[in-house]
Amino acid sequence: MKAKQKKGSEYKMNTSLIHGAGRSVKWDFSHHVVPPLSCSVTYRLDSTARGAQGFSEYGQLIEDGGEPPIYIYERLDEPTRSLLEGNLARVEGGDACVTFASGMAAVSAALGFALKTGDEVIAHPLIYGCTHSLFTNWYPRLGFKTCRIDLTDLEKLRSSISDSTRIIYFESPTNPNMQLIDISAIREICNAFNKKRPSDRKILVVIDNTFASPFCQRPLEHGADIVVYSLTKSIGGFGTNVGGAVICPKELHRGVLSYRKDFGGVLSAKSAWEIQVYGLPTLPVRMKRCQHSAMQVARYLESSPFVSAVRYPGLESFPQKDLARKQMRDFDGEFSPGNMIYFLLHESKIDSIKFIDDLAANAYCITLAVSLGHTKTLIEAPFSMTHSSYGKGDPMTQEKGIRLSVGLESPSDIISDIEKSFKRVGKKTVTA
Ligand code: PLP
Repeated sequence: MKAKQKKGSEYKMNTSLIHGAGRSVKWDFSHHVVPPLSCSVTYRLDSTARGAQGFSEYGQLIEDGGEPPIYIYERLDEPTRSLLEGNLARVEGGDACVTFASGMAAVSAALGFALKTGDEVIAHPLIYGCTHSLFTNWYPRLGFKTCRIDLTDLEKLRSSISDSTRIIYFESPTNPNMQLIDISAIREICNAFNKKRPSDRKILVVIDNTFASPFCQRPLEHGADIVVYSLTKSIGGFGTNVGGAVICPKELHRGVLSYRKDFGGVLSAKSAWEIQVYGLPTLPVRMKRCQHSAMQVARYLESSPFVSAVRYPGLESFPQKDLARKQMRDFDGEFSPGNMIYFLLHESKIDSIKFIDDLAANAYCITLAVSLGHTKTLIEAPFSMTHSSYGKGDPMTQEKGIRLSVGLESPSDIISDIEKSFKRVGKKTVTA
């Protein structure tokens, strides 16, 4: 009997993430209800001619219905990882995906594969702390220039682009303070400059979409060239695997893949399998639930006398709410502001560090830990933890904002833990 071929594209994305493509052009999974985990470091090549063919064809994207590739060695390519890559490219609406050992390996590759000595990256000032450290500690040594400008100021961007500019890099929402960058406006500016450039010098728009996840935002639809993820976060979802991904057009695929082959930061097949089997199929249901709770927690925080500001794209008070509604949409087109909240406390009424430490000591369902997009609600102090590479003098460090990644618990329990902490630590003249 002929194997059933599942046609994911006829179904809603929420459904096709559960059933997947059913098969990969690289390996037929159609008789497995759950895809197998392949664990072979090296592959039998049958003859030197077949081995040579495998090397010469390496990195070619195989169209649906094409012949499976000749696998050579796990670091180059292997079937479990490539099934996940096919599904991640499909979720994002991209041509190709290359996965990595971590989000930072993916960030490094998405930029590093395109940069030559003297090239410049224009980046938004606020980004994940280790990416900031990559730009400030490592890029000068490698001869890559970086220029940090506020990418919400489009005129400033236009006047800052020079012949050496190769990449515009940002996160949206930004980690940690939830600023949004208008992806299609950045695209338009780059298009105007790219008209006069040869194909290998076009300015690339690269976005780290980790905070939003593909459930809330698919940047290629708005004109980004390359999307980067830490799979460790919402896509992996359970906090059991570190990983990263780069989604890119087919013309750039070979470059990113070759970079991974030679720099070596591959995602292990075992991690790829768990992300494929547990993380990706449950992404919509988890994100929907976390987002529902995040809205309630954000509203509660906004109403508290201890809180001076809350930045959550779902709130009416969110300064960029029109852009949020334009860019952040789920697979069904519904507004999707995500699960991440950034908030500030009135330091005269409550001490931020005492508050976080009190939660760490007493809260049942809020954990003091870095990472995000987890089943569990995680709180952290970016100013002294994830973003400490910015240094004590930076305005973000000084404002002492708090980052909350809302998990799958009941929202009333999350709120109750925060409320109890406000009561224990807040100055007694204020009622929580
Ligand atoms: N990008 C963002 C926005 C992040 O928050 C992180 C980690 O927190 C990374 C990239 C790096 O991911 P990983 O820890 O998987 O290397």
